[in-house]
Amino acid sequence: MKKIANYINGKLIEPKSNSYINNYNPATGQVYSLIPDSNEEDVEIAIESAKNAFPLWSKLKNSERSRWLEKISNGINDRQDELALAESIDNGKPLKLAKKVDIPRACENFKFYATAIQHFASESHHNTDSMINFTLRKPVGVAACISPWNLPLYLFSWKIAPALAAGNTVVAKPSEITPMTAYLLSEICHNIDLPAGVLNIVHGLGSNTGNSIISSDDIDLVSFTGGSSTGAHIAKILAPKFKKMSLELGGKNPNIIFDDCDFDEAIQTSLNSSFANQGQICLCGSRILVQRGIYEKFKNEFVSRTDRMIVGDPMNDKSRLGAIVSKPHYEKILSYIQLAKEEGGSILTGGVPVKLDGDLSNGWYIRPTIIEGLDQQCRTNQEEIFGPVVTIQPFDTEEEAVELANSNNYGLAATIWTSDLSKAHRCSENIKSGIIWVNCWLQRDLRTPFGGMKNSGVGREGGWEALRFFTEPKNVCIKY
Ligand code: NAD
Repeated sequence: MKKIANYINGKLIEPKSNSYINNYNPATGQVYSLIPDSNEEDVEIAIESAKNAFPLWSKLKNSERSRWLEKISNGINDRQDELALAESIDNGKPLKLAKKVDIPRACENFKFYATAIQHFASESHHNTDSMINFTLRKPVGVAACISPWNLPLYLFSWKIAPALAAGNTVVAKPSEITPMTAYLLSEICHNIDLPAGVLNIVHGLGSNTGNSIISSDDIDLVSFTGGSSTGAHIAKILAPKFKKMSLELGGKNPNIIFDDCDFDEAIQTSLNSSFANQGQICLCGSRILVQRGIYEKFKNEFVSRTDRMIVGDPMNDKSRLGAIVSKPHYEKILSYIQLAKEEGGSILTGGVPVKLDGDLSNGWYIRPTIIEGLDQQCRTNQEEIFGPVVTIQPFDTEEEAVELANSNNYGLAATIWTSDLSKAHRCSENIKSGIIWVNCWLQRDLRTPFGGMKNSGVGREGGWEALRFFTEPKNVCIKY
C-alpha cells in the first residue's frame, strides 16, 4: 500500500515514529494509502529547516522567488491529470470537478502570486514639514499554513503561494483526510530542487501534528482554514503570544432570491451553490430565502431539478455529486437531517443515504436534500452542516430578507438574486458577510479580499491582502 512521505528540508522522508494513519477512498470506503502520523519531533525538524532556509530565501529578489513559484505552477500543470485523479480519489469529489476547478486553481494560485509579488509595492507618506514616511515591508519568518479537506490542493496552495512569494519559509500541514495532492506537490517541489527547507510539508492529525505546529514558539505567523471551533482553539494559543494569524472559518450562507430575479439563472446557479462538491464548500448557500411571490414556483422547480441530480461514482462524468469525504462526516450530515426532522422540518427531497453497487457499495453517499418549514433560530439553520443539505424559507420584504440573512453567527458569504440594482446595493451594504455575490456565485477574481466576519474568521486572503498579511510593515520616518 502506498505510504505518503513528509517533505522536510528538501527531502521526502518517513515520520520519526514510523507510525502511519489510514487514508480512505470515500467512494469505496476502503483504506488505500497510509499517512505519516507525524509527532512533535517531525514538526521541530521541519520548523528548524524553515528557520535555516529563511535568511537566504527572504533575501532573494522578488523576481527570483517569482521564478520558483512559476516552476511550481508549471510542475502542477504538467501533472494536472494525475493530480485531478488523486484529488477525486482522496476526497470523493467528481473527477470532472477536480479537473475543472481544483487543480487549475492550484496551478493559478502559484502563477498569480508569482506575478503579484513583482507588482507589490508599499506606501509612502509625504508631508509639508520636510518629512517623508515610507513603509518597509519585510517577510515575517516561518509561516504555518494549515488547510482543510474540502478543496485540498486549491486551499493548501492558496496559503503557501503568497507566503513564499512574500519571502517567508513555510511549514504546511494539509488535512489528514485528504493528504494526497499535498504529497504530490512535495514531489513536484523536490523534482524542481526547490531550495531545502523553503517549503516543508508535514502530515498528520490536527490534534497532534497540527497542534505541535501552532504551539511552537518558533513559528512567526499562522494562516489557517478550517472549522470555527478549531479556529477558536488556535486563536487561544496564538493570541497571548501576539502572533499574527489569519483564520478562514465556517459559513452558513444565505442565498436570497427576490421575485424580480432572472428565474432560470437563479435556479441553475442555486443547484450549484447548494450541492457542488457535495455541498462541502464553505461558500455554499445552505439557507435559501425566496420571496413569497415566486416561492412555490421556485421550490417546485428547484426540487424537481434536484431530484434529477445523479449521485454516483466520482469517476463517472454523469455524476453531479460524488461521495462524502469521510465516514464521520457522512454520519454527521445524516444526524443533522434527523435533527431537522425532529425540529419540525419537512424533507422535500433527499434526506437519505445512497447505496451504490459493487466496489462502491461501502462508499459514503447522500442524496441532495431540501428541507422546508424551519425557522432561522433552529439548530439546522444556525449550525454549519457542510454537506448536500439546504433549507428553504419564504420572505416578504427586503428588510425581512436582510434580517433573516443576518440572523446567524456566521458571516462568510451571501448571494443575492435581483434585477433591481439599487436593491442589490442596499442588501450588499446591510448583509453582514465578507463576500457578496449578486446574480452569480463563486466567481473569483484572485485580487479581491476573501474572508468572513463574525464566526467566519479574522483577516482576509487574496491579492494584496495576503501579501500584506505575510509581511510585517515598519514605518521609517525621514526628516530632510
Ligand atoms: P478542521 O478545523 O477540523 O481542520 C482543518 C485543518 O486543521 C486540518 O488540517 C486539521 O488537521 C487541522 N487541525 C485540527 N485541529 C487542529 C489543532 N488543534 N491544531 C492545529 N491544527 C488543527 O476543519 P475541516 O473539517 O478539515 O474543514 C471543514 C471546515 O473548514 C468547515 O467549517 C468549512 O466551512 C471550513 N472552510 C472554510 C473556508 C474559508 O475559506 N472560510 C474554506 C474551506 C473550508
